[in-house]
Amino acid sequence: MYRGLTVVCRAWRPLHSASRCLHTVYQSAELPDTHRMLRDTCREFAEKELQPIAAQLDREHRFPQDQVRQMGQMGLLAVDVPEKLGGAGLDYLAYSIAVEEISRGCASTGVIMSVNNSLYLGPILKNATEDQKRKWITPYCSGDKIGCFSLSEPGNGSDAGAASTVARLDGDHWVLNGTKSWITNAWDASATVVFATTDKSLKHKGISAFLVEMPSPGLSLGKKEDKLGIRASSTANLIFEDCRIPRENLLGKPGMGFKIAMQTLDAGRIGIASQALGIAQAALDCAVDYAEKRIAFGAPITKLQAIQFKLADMALALESARLLTWRAAMLKDNKKPYTKEAAMAKLVASEAATRISHQAIQILGGMGYVTEMPAERHYRDARITEIYEGTSEIQRLVIANQLVKEYQQ
Ligand SMILES: Cc1cc2nc3c(=O)[nH]c(=O)nc-3n(C[C@H](O)[C@H](O)[C@H](O)COP(=O)(O)OP(=O)(O)OC[C@H]3O[C@@H](n4cnc5c(N)ncnc54)[C@H](O)[C@@H]3O)c2cc1C
Repeated sequence: MYRGLTVVCRAWRPLHSASRCLHTVYQSAELPDTHRMLRDTCREFAEKELQPIAAQLDREHRFPQDQVRQMGQMGLLAVDVPEKLGGAGLDYLAYSIAVEEISRGCASTGVIMSVNNSLYLGPILKNATEDQKRKWITPYCSGDKIGCFSLSEPGNGSDAGAASTVARLDGDHWVLNGTKSWITNAWDASATVVFATTDKSLKHKGISAFLVEMPSPGLSLGKKEDKLGIRASSTANLIFEDCRIPRENLLGKPGMGFKIAMQTLDAGRIGIASQALGIAQAALDCAVDYAEKRIAFGAPITKLQAIQFKLADMALALESARLLTWRAAMLKDNKKPYTKEAAMAKLVASEAATRISHQAIQILGGMGYVTEMPAERHYRDARITEIYEGTSEIQRLVIANQLVKEYQQ
């Protein structure tokens, strides 16, 4: 029904290397044709398949199984995974645009997609052996299976280096014990990347990354969390009790886990920034549409300067955040450092989404506060983008650390 991204991808690859892409965006202030085609395809899908059911999915806390399958067939679950492994073979700018459009239709579906792409497939693509890639990547590109990322624990979220989940080598198996908390996609995933310490005395340098099938003996799921927003995505604890996994399920080298987690979150933050953009855009769309139709004092409220100023500030915050997000994505595509820029993008986009969705409710007045209109859902969905994959406080720490390092060079 929708044109697969591989078609889009074939159309543009000969013309646009990542660096030419950067050039095109800066020179013409326009996306390259292929990225615009991708945006239009995702937008059409989101408007037809996600937007009409987003409120119901939210109400029923229901995972959008059919839509996730379709997205897999379109290449949206593995946007930057090479085609030979089953992905769309596109770049991170394409991924950012796709996450924004999907999140504009349904923020829950946006995070399901983002976790599979950035947090699950991302670290495997970068660190796995060829055998591991075939087993743990290819089946997770088509939408039949999705993955999750298990870093946070009940006792440590921001302080991820203090992981207390342990992995002990026993013959040809690793034995995992501990609890991971807040894991997105937990109830719907067929595998997870999990971080556990193999040597506590080394602190964060003793953490390693592992690949675990779900379900597995010794691994159980906690209750589905009842959340403020993104309610169609599942969030739950993963409880490891003598969970034995084959020795070859170690991802990367022993002790590399913390580095893998941090690199993964750098890329993941571009995904969450993009999710925030999609939510913010949906809130702005809703506010403008309503303001044009709502008559007060004999004219549409868009004639009121107070409303115009709100709309102008919302559009400005959104566009600024989008440019930072695209810049972070393009730096990654060009293999340049992007830790600071990804943190900036995530911080600005998530705070913009919260502010814009807050103002959208104000513009809708009473209609902003009821579930008949999507504004209240956008407001609830936006809030999490300031918390997961590093809170806003942590983003500020990352930015400041990188900044000081730059000055010391
Ligand atoms: C819906 C949802 C989905 C999630 N999905 C996942 C997932 O898929 N995988 C995963 O591993 N995790 C996931 N998380 C966990 C998420 O990443 C953490 O909640 C987040 O990193 C914050 O950790 P915390 O909740 O332990 O808060 P804490 O770390 O306890 O922080 C509490 C407060 O203290 C502040 N703070 C902490 N340290 C500092 C500091 N050094 N300087 C300044 N302020 C500080 C924080 O900013 C925050 O305001 C998810 C969380 C939620 C709610």
